[in-house]
Amino acid sequence: MRKYFKNPVFKLISDVVNEQNLEAYVIGGFVRDQFLQRESKDIDIVVVGSGIELAERVAEKLGPAVKVSVFKNFGTAMVKLKDLELEFVGARKESYRIDSRKPIVENGTLEDDQKRRDFTINALALSLKKENYGELVDPFNGVEDIKHETIRTPLDPDTTFSDDPLRMIRAIRFATQLGFNIDSETLESITRNRDRIEIVSKERINDELNKIISSPKPSIGFMLFDQTGLLELIFPQLHKLKGVDVVNNRAHKDNFLHTLKVLDNIAKTTDNLWLRWSAILHDIAKPATKAYNPQQGWTFHGHEFLGAKMIPGIFKSMKMPLNEKMKYVQKMVLLHLRPIVLSQEIVTDSAIRRLLFDAGDDIDDLMTLCDADITSANDKVVEKHLKNFQLVRQKLKEIEEKDAIRNFQPPVSGEMIMEMFDLRPSKPVGDLKNILKDAILDGIIRNSYDEAYAYVRQKGIEMGLTPVK
Ligand code: ATP
Repeated sequence: MRKYFKNPVFKLISDVVNEQNLEAYVIGGFVRDQFLQRESKDIDIVVVGSGIELAERVAEKLGPAVKVSVFKNFGTAMVKLKDLELEFVGARKESYRIDSRKPIVENGTLEDDQKRRDFTINALALSLKKENYGELVDPFNGVEDIKHETIRTPLDPDTTFSDDPLRMIRAIRFATQLGFNIDSETLESITRNRDRIEIVSKERINDELNKIISSPKPSIGFMLFDQTGLLELIFPQLHKLKGVDVVNNRAHKDNFLHTLKVLDNIAKTTDNLWLRWSAILHDIAKPATKAYNPQQGWTFHGHEFLGAKMIPGIFKSMKMPLNEKMKYVQKMVLLHLRPIVLSQEIVTDSAIRRLLFDAGDDIDDLMTLCDADITSANDKVVEKHLKNFQLVRQKLKEIEEKDAIRNFQPPVSGEMIMEMFDLRPSKPVGDLKNILKDAILDGIIRNSYDEAYAYVRQKGIEMGLTPVK
């Protein structure tokens, strides 16, 4: 196992461990990732004794520039070393009460500490003692599980999940991130214990959810959420997309499966978490807008408008940031049909200018979402739509080069309009600003100060205003 201790810092920690006659191990995610040949920057070190004392001794040895951050309440200490983070903690034994995922913690042995870990693959430890330096301690056959690509709890899964129900989400997160299977008993236990998720904070669920969404194939996680019954509990709006209605032999597509396909598609082209969230939410209002009529079949009129309106409520309920990230997702949902419409109609310059104006700098992301939204099983259909989008892209580029609409600011501002007609801030000022914006986007006048000034002046007079300039 010596090959896993490439960094000289392990030798240095081992020296301290020996001098102090301690028992200490590298444990958890770092060890797992060594076996998986994944890069890992967070190194957890568990010592039978005080983690804080060991951290302080190690930092001393590393030199005066190295600082220790001590978290007394948690009994942990962190040492930063270039891009590595070393976290020191005393081995502990945990017991749980039914109503909380906060354990009662006592000092314990390495074995106690391994038992409180979530999965066998996360319970591996490598010794830092001199006499068995680098020896693997693997009481739950975690290495076998890594070989067989299996997520399994070290103890009875009902105990592990009931103690800390966040672990159910973590199981699904690791399965998605690593492409592993969840062992059948462990999976059944998640289904059985799913209601326990209610004692977990939304923020923690969201951290794990974002890791699932950032994975190479996020649908794995959402399918597992569905299979275990967790989906309805943690993301009811997405659960509502499930299912197919049939009237007069006409069915619409299953919008849950479609959404997951769009998400997997977009995961191949972007790491932007919020664009991935836009893919998840782009059709979220389809259940609420679904209607059937014999001429058109199934329709979802206005689902983009209602969907955009639903976003703040969803973000709030999931304790996600109510900031510019949310606004961005809202914009993507609102605009997601616009390029499709443009690709089907004879496109006017005016329609292209309006799309550029509404999407601004996010136009490329919007086109990425639209590409991902093509999910037909028929390759020919996909190809046709992608080709049409290429034409829309071409047109967007031409118009942007000509008219610079993306970051468009009207050449005559609200203040200038107020001065022109000696007005206070009032409705006519807003009306004139809109009239001017429309005239430029519709190509009635060019995007220049002189033309805009003359146009606003004329329109103001037509509204009954008197120019003073
Ligand atoms: P990543 O760095 O990708 O999040 P990780 O395994 O390092 O993966 P952390 O959340 O940093 O995940 O946790 C570090 C280790 O602590 C885990 O490998 C596991 O042994 C243990 N652990 C973390 N959370 C829990 C939990 N809720 N229950 C039990 N053990 C846990």
